[in-house]
Formats: sequence, structure tokens, C-alpha cells
Amino acid sequence: MSRFLNARLQSLIPYTPGEQPRGRTFIRLNTNELPWPPPERAVAAARANVRSANLYSDPDCVDLTAKLAELNGLKPEQIIVTNGSDEVLNFAFIAFCGPDTPALFPNITYAFYPVFAGVNGIPYEELPLNPDFTVDLEAYKARRGTVFLANPNAPTGLALPVSAIEALLAADPDRVVVVDEAYVDFHGVSCAPLIDRYPNLLVTRTFSKSRGLAGARLGFGMGSRELITDLHTIRNSTNPYNVNSATQALGLAMLEEEETTAQRCAEIMAVRDRTVAALRELGFTVTDSRTNFLFARSDKVSGADLFAKLRERGILIRHFARPETDAWNRITVGTAEQMEAFLAAVREILKEAD
Ligand SMILES: *Cc1c(COP(=O)(O)O)cnc(C)c1O
Repeated sequence: MSRFLNARLQSLIPYTPGEQPRGRTFIRLNTNELPWPPPERAVAAARANVRSANLYSDPDCVDLTAKLAELNGLKPEQIIVTNGSDEVLNFAFIAFCGPDTPALFPNITYAFYPVFAGVNGIPYEELPLNPDFTVDLEAYKARRGTVFLANPNAPTGLALPVSAIEALLAADPDRVVVVDEAYVDFHGVSCAPLIDRYPNLLVTRTFSKSRGLAGARLGFGMGSRELITDLHTIRNSTNPYNVNSATQALGLAMLEEEETTAQRCAEIMAVRDRTVAALRELGFTVTDSRTNFLFARSDKVSGADLFAKLRERGILIRHFARPETDAWNRITVGTAEQMEAFLAAVREILKEAD
């Protein structure tokens, strides 16, 4: 740290992304990526676009916005396209939180939320999940502030019913509720149909998980025209050209491949459910994941040990070393072959522990 860093930021702990090792090839089950590259047609669209890299990208992502509006039954004014959904989430913290409207989110959720609050000097409160990792929405109703809910939640993998979120929206029309739907395509039930009835709802999505474009950095927000206007104000006050032109072309082309996306999601969900069953047979406690990752613990091996022993065997998973999650691991669902290799390694590790 230099002696010049803003005093407000000196205690900021940045977000730690899952490791991206170089050299040795690992089976990467640690960042919830999709295991397949984009279809060739989409790659070709992005490549062709690089030729116009001398020109600034379209700041309003007009084509992509129109297509997303069409696919989601909304008007273009109800969509903002961003550099990953992390960016639209950060914009929402900036736009809709402040001294009198702290950010409210679960104590076990996407680890970036407290960082967005911290870097923007926004007060926040982490509300404890129930012991079974479900969200206690009554606790939110009793508090003032802007609510951030990942639904399905990460790293627990559990989803709230839309009706419960609707009750929260209805309980206080003066409160913004942000529903982070990064994993919704592995769940199938979205809050987006509520948007036209609840002007206080913002739904965020990403191309990083179900559409396999994590490295292209593409996300979007959907909400009332008023909320989206505010987010555009933040975008135009920070980085108007927030989405590069190759990514816009790639994202648009990806939306022409919805059948591939649906097939890939179905495959991940089938492999997920088989892996959950196999882990339970091995004595693991596994949550009912509605995502492309598993949240699991074993009484025979600690979360830290399972992480370390799998790493020795060339397989990366995640371990969040805080008291509430210390016994647990988050495991991305990869291909059937990758999950077979993972399960074989787990069996070996359990045998050693016996
Ligand atoms: C991965 C993830 C995101 C953000 O992903 P981007 O790559 O920035 O689009 C947002 N929320 C949750 C819960 C996630 O797991």
C-alpha cells in the first residue's frame, strides 16, 4: 500500500477470484465456467469484428440490447448491457445504496457484494442464513436498505421461490431489490416476469456461466425504465464504452445459438444430479443445487483438506475459509469425464482418510 491511498480504502479487502494456474494443466472445477468453448459461428462473428477495433464500440450496445429485450419480453429501455454482471452489480451499489439505504445481503453469498459496498463507501449488513442455508426474507422486510439476493444463491446453490421474492418487493415499493440471476439457466425460474409489475426490481444476468463467455466479460441488467436510466447515468459517468465491440458481436452471435445453450445447460444439470447422487452415496452432505456447481461437505475430510488433496491430484475446487463455510467446498460441474475424474480422486482421498 502506498502512503497515498485514500484513507477510506486502506482497510478494503478486494475480491479473490478463483486461481487461474499456469503451467500444469488442472481440471478446473473452481470458477463455475462452462467446460466448452463458444460455437465456431459465434467465434467467427467476434473475429470479424476485430477489424473495426480502430473505432469506439457502440456505447449503448443497441443491437445486443434489442435482442435481449426481444428474448425477455421487455423494451430496450428496460435493459442495460455491461462488462460482466459484476459491472451492473457495482453500478447498482453506486446508484441505489447510500448512508440511509445500506446494502443488505446474506452472510453467505457472492463474496463480491461486501467488496462493492466497501469500495464505494456504502454501509452494509450481512444477514445470517438459516441453519439449512435458506434465506430468511422476513429479516429483510424488517430492515431499511437495498437488498441484494443471488437467486439461486452462491455458494449454497439454493433458490428462493419467485413468490417469496415477490412478497419482499410488494412489502415495500420504496425499496430496490436486486436479484442476481447468474445461475438462473441451471434453475429455470426467473424473477424477470415480475419486472413490469414492480418498478423496484432489478434483475442481473451474465453470459459467463450458462453461455460460456466468462472471458468475454458480458452481463446485463433488466428492470423498470427508471432504474435502468439511473444505471446508464452511472455507466456514462464511469466508462461509457464499457463493452468492447468484439464482445458485443460475440454476445449477439451467442444469442443466435440458444438451442446449443439449452442443450449445454441440460447436460450440465444431468451431470450435476448424477454427481450429487454419487457424492451422497460416499457420505457427503450436498445441498440441492440449482446451479452449475455443488456445495458439499464430508465428515471424513475437512473442506481445507479436500481442496488441498484434490489440488495435489490436479483438480481445482474452491474452499471458503470462513467459519460458516469452513467444512464445505464448492465444486463446479464440468463434463461427465471431468466429474468421473473428480469422483475417482475423492474416493481415493476418502480411502486414505479411513
Ligand atoms: C459469476 C457470478 C457473477 C458475475 O459474473 P460476471 O462474470 O461478472 O458476469 C455474479 N454473481 C454471481 C452470484 C456469480 O456467481
